[in-house]
Amino acid sequence: MPEFLGPIAGFGVTFATMFKKPVTEFYPEEKAPTAQRYHGRHQLNRYADGLEKCIGCELCAWACPADAIYVEGADNTEEERYSPGERYGQVYQINYLRCIGCGLCIEACPTRALTMTNDYELADDNRADLIYEKDRLLAPLQPGVEPAPHPMTEGATAADYYRGTVR
Ligand code: SF4
Ligand code: SF4
Repeated sequence: MPEFLGPIAGFGVTFATMFKKPVTEFYPEEKAPTAQRYHGRHQLNRYADGLEKCIGCELCAWACPADAIYVEGADNTEEERYSPGERYGQVYQINYLRCIGCGLCIEACPTRALTMTNDYELADDNRADLIYEKDRLLAPLQPGVEPAPHPMTEGATAADYYRGTVR
């Protein structure tokens, strides 16, 4: 094709595209459902009584190939208990500028504290807001459930929580 016809050919592509069915969704007005097992934003889960499942063990951070997780564990006390057992995750951060959504952290978690939701809206206009901390990662509280810190359910041991027998 002669060089001077190049721009005209470009308009030809534009013109032909105008009559094609759009492949885009009407996002954000209409949010298409994700696949059931879509790897979206993480969630730090709680037990039924509101205590946190995370024990601050850092296994998720060590499993992460992108170095996206930072955890600082601390000791529970009888006056201030966040999880059953000895330790809880005092600081928990996921850096979504690094996360590649591989799910290896989920596999590594021994208490099923960490899972992934279907929430894919993880864009922002600055770096700091893409480092999620516990305030944005902890599972929402069910109605009537008391947030941690509080004592373990009366008569229950840490092992009862791990076995899933505390309702
Ligand atoms: S999903 Fe993968 S990359 Fe993201 S925090 Fe977990 S282990 Fe790291
Ligand atoms: S989320 Fe799971 S693996 Fe990560 S620190 Fe908490 S208990 Fe350990």
